[in-house]
Amino acid sequence: MPEFFNVLPPSEAFNVVRKNVVVRAVPETIATDEALGRVTASEVLSPEVLPAFPRSTMDGYSVRARDTFGASEGMPAYLEVVGKVSMGKAVDVSLSTGQTAEAYTGGGLAQGADAVVMVEHTQVVNETTIEVTRSVAPGENVVQVGEDVSERDSILPAGQILRPQDIGGLMALGITEIDVFRRPRVAIVSTGDELVPPTEKPGPGIIRDINTFTISSLVTQAGGIPIPQGLVADVFEAQREAAVAGIAEADILVFSAGSSVSSRDMTADVIEMLGEPGVLVHGISIRPGKPSIVGVIDGKPVFGLPGNPVSAMVVFGLLVRPTIYLLSGCAEPPRPATIRARLVRDIASQTGREDHVPVKLSMTDGVQQADPVFGKSNLIYTLVRSDGMVTVPIDDGGLYAGDEVSVRLY
Ligand code: AMP
Ligand code: MG
Repeated sequence: MPEFFNVLPPSEAFNVVRKNVVVRAVPETIATDEALGRVTASEVLSPEVLPAFPRSTMDGYSVRARDTFGASEGMPAYLEVVGKVSMGKAVDVSLSTGQTAEAYTGGGLAQGADAVVMVEHTQVVNETTIEVTRSVAPGENVVQVGEDVSERDSILPAGQILRPQDIGGLMALGITEIDVFRRPRVAIVSTGDELVPPTEKPGPGIIRDINTFTISSLVTQAGGIPIPQGLVADVFEAQREAAVAGIAEADILVFSAGSSVSSRDMTADVIEMLGEPGVLVHGISIRPGKPSIVGVIDGKPVFGLPGNPVSAMVVFGLLVRPTIYLLSGCAEPPRPATIRARLVRDIASQTGREDHVPVKLSMTDGVQQADPVFGKSNLIYTLVRSDGMVTVPIDDGGLYAGDEVSVRLY
């Protein structure tokens, strides 16, 4: 009976990757408006101040604050309206004592003004006069020059994944190109005599290939570039050739299926043939996903994922996803979004094994509930019909109905 030796917890398996791979993140310059999700290759300093001119945060009137001191409903201040500062125009009006000019949200202030009175706190008396019914302090309702960003401010560190607000912030400063790291390329070798492409109608004993597509999608989601190598039969030489081609053009090589220890399973032997050091971990203490392989060839990570589509996705999330971020030059991989929920049913486990169970979320009486979706673990629709995953920690014998759990959302 073949055995797994040296079964490691998933966190230790990832440490093996971290210790043995060589991070070769290469910078490239791209258009900022195409940089969403990319990783900054260097710190970005602001070339300008923002805002570049004092801006009103309200519709109303720009004033010299002291002209409004003591103003109230009962004893308003009367100010002479001498013009307005139109949006998108240079300021061409200036205030003397007792004067005011119309101001708009985001627009400039009249020369000499140091505050803005909200329109709600004014009354029009006639064409050239308003009443101000509340006093404002200097600086009130105004964003000062440089209040958002000063010149030479560090606006983004190196190794940060660019979010929508980062793209907007760069554009606000006229930074239309940015240095980011190249996206890691991930070759995917999908093995199995029983597989056909999804375009085909499977004959007896045949199934359509799922994993090429779930793994490719997961790679894209993690910021990598999937490079599927096509379907490869359970023939050693064919798998070796696909692997050699894959690792030559990619930064990471992922095998689907054949990762276990039976005589049909050849992923481990193929990895051993590719180069040094070869297979470093065979077997991870999780369910599903125990028959997984971690290897390294000339500094490049190689993974053997189980063919079972659910296992493949779970192991991808624990090992391949953080590896893609590591090779992206990303300082801190984004943590998956989680939600707290109350478990509806018990989940059995055993100590020494980390379980990952898909759950369906629902709200009952205002309480977020997580219902485990049990099913034979190789059923892709257990994932399609669920909203996220619950982990039973390695040292726990199980979780109980009523426990509060953290659900990792997909
Ligand atoms: P293996 O890891 O080769 O023992 O395969 C485990 C299970 O996953 C078997 O039922 C395979 O038919 C199935 N399987 C392997 N590869 C795929 C794939 N690409 N898509 C869907 N199912 C697969
Ligand atoms: Mg197989």
